[in-house]
Amino acid sequence: MAAAIGAVGAAASVAACRGGIGSSSFGVGRGVDVIIVNARVWTVDPARPEAEAVGILGDRIVAVGTRAEIEKGRGSATRVIDAGGRFVMPGFDDAHIHLMTGGAELDNVALKDAATPEEFVRRIGERAKAVPKGEWILGGNWDEQGWPGAPLPTRALVDGVTPDTPVFVTRYDEHMSLANSVALRLAGVTATTPDPPGGLIVRDAKGNPTGILKDAAQGFVFRVIPPPTAEQRAKTLHRALRHMAELGVTSVQDMGPDPDDVAVYGALASRGELTARIRAVPAEIALAKQLGGGRVRHHPSAFLKVSGAKGFADGSLGSTTAFFFEPYSDDPRSRGLLADEMQPLEGMRSRLLAIDQAGEQLCIHAIGDRAISMVLDLFEDVERAHGARDRRPRIEHSQHVAPGDFARYARLGAIASVQPYHAIDDGKWAEKRIGAERAKTTYAFRSFLDNRVRVAFGTDWPVAPLDPMQTLHAAVTRATLDGKRPGGWVPEQKVTVAEAIEAYTMGAAHAEFEEANKGSVTVGKLADLVILSGDPFRVAPEAIGSLKVAMTIAGGHVVYERR
Ligand SMILES: [Zn+2]
Repeated sequence: MAAAIGAVGAAASVAACRGGIGSSSFGVGRGVDVIIVNARVWTVDPARPEAEAVGILGDRIVAVGTRAEIEKGRGSATRVIDAGGRFVMPGFDDAHIHLMTGGAELDNVALKDAATPEEFVRRIGERAKAVPKGEWILGGNWDEQGWPGAPLPTRALVDGVTPDTPVFVTRYDEHMSLANSVALRLAGVTATTPDPPGGLIVRDAKGNPTGILKDAAQGFVFRVIPPPTAEQRAKTLHRALRHMAELGVTSVQDMGPDPDDVAVYGALASRGELTARIRAVPAEIALAKQLGGGRVRHHPSAFLKVSGAKGFADGSLGSTTAFFFEPYSDDPRSRGLLADEMQPLEGMRSRLLAIDQAGEQLCIHAIGDRAISMVLDLFEDVERAHGARDRRPRIEHSQHVAPGDFARYARLGAIASVQPYHAIDDGKWAEKRIGAERAKTTYAFRSFLDNRVRVAFGTDWPVAPLDPMQTLHAAVTRATLDGKRPGGWVPEQKVTVAEAIEAYTMGAAHAEFEEANKGSVTVGKLADLVILSGDPFRVAPEAIGSLKVAMTIAGGHVVYERR
């Protein structure tokens, strides 16, 4: 290796060899590309938990150590970043997002914080005046739980302000949407339309649709919304990438993306325009169909890969479609709804077997305790049929776990892919829906860790904010958003700051088989780093949520710098 690398220190030389980094990209004396000094580096690497400085060459970390050690790699072409004593850590890897829905939300009508039905209507009416005639009003992330009496909105509510604008606004959990009369007409949904499998058309006393379509019934309207053009998609993606960079998110795992969006990811990847790494996880239904045709894996750059398969076992707690062993405490007639993909179960099993046979990872959404148990059964079926291997099956959300099932996760090597922000959001009302006993093993992050289950953190953006600080805060405090449980909802399930960071970096990297490349500040790994405005270990837990990202580095490039 060249002198410049040798000068960085013995650790760097070893790792440079291990990481396969060549010396041809820089001349002797030029030094490494970037050094970060005067930092408190939290590495998430048990071999060296803390350091003062980091050296970067190309897109890799080539040295981690004391300031004096790293300064030796400094040359005439080295950019020196003085962290000002601040906290440096691996970039956040969000294990579960909906990238393009999130990107679109950044420009959509915002309904999540509409405090009353009147405010909800006012915002939709305003948007209707702003959009060109005939253009759809979509997204919104509405949440009726804060409204007096929590009534579901109806088309009658919004028809007056949207006489010729189609509206299809979605609840924040994406398990139901409200269509206005224009949208229902375009979709052909009437009083005589039967409920589809895994879906529900909410009807009034006379049997007429109220406009609320739950789960699979949303498909009636989604099918008639014109798809965006490739240019519109690229614009949305750029918008999302900016948002990620500002928040220190350097990797995302995009669940069930539209294949046309994945094509746009590929176009941006080949032009070098991705500033965060995207792992696209196709829908299992779509993937299972492709397997017969001889699928080719798609890895156009270090910033994009397409792998795994995302499926659904049930709905959500907010929409009372999460599937439980026992009835809902506030709706004794219902135990929830099994997703259409699970009906018949044999169909799901054979698709999952085919996907596993192809070597792909299974990532199945399951929220209710019974849905989770059924998915664990399916994972066991797969293991029994194909033998043991390092397959890391994932249960997305893993919200309400039957006490006996933690050990099954551990035995299967199954990953709990969880979103701590949901706990402080749903925690406002979840207990009335499931009762105190089930709440004990709800969002049970501590129980997972105590049972040696690997946990990966994410947000489910745009269901929850993409901001990792808010997720860390949620996991550490479990303080509900309504301020009513400042000591934490089910406080036994809190995790430490170190555990939360681990789950958001190494945990998420492990969950996508990328632990050799990402997840820690370790020599040889990709130079994906963030500098925070403050130290999450040294501020009060309540203050973690307001920490900001000062700088984001992805693949050795500064992709965001806070002014
Ligand atoms: Zn999701």
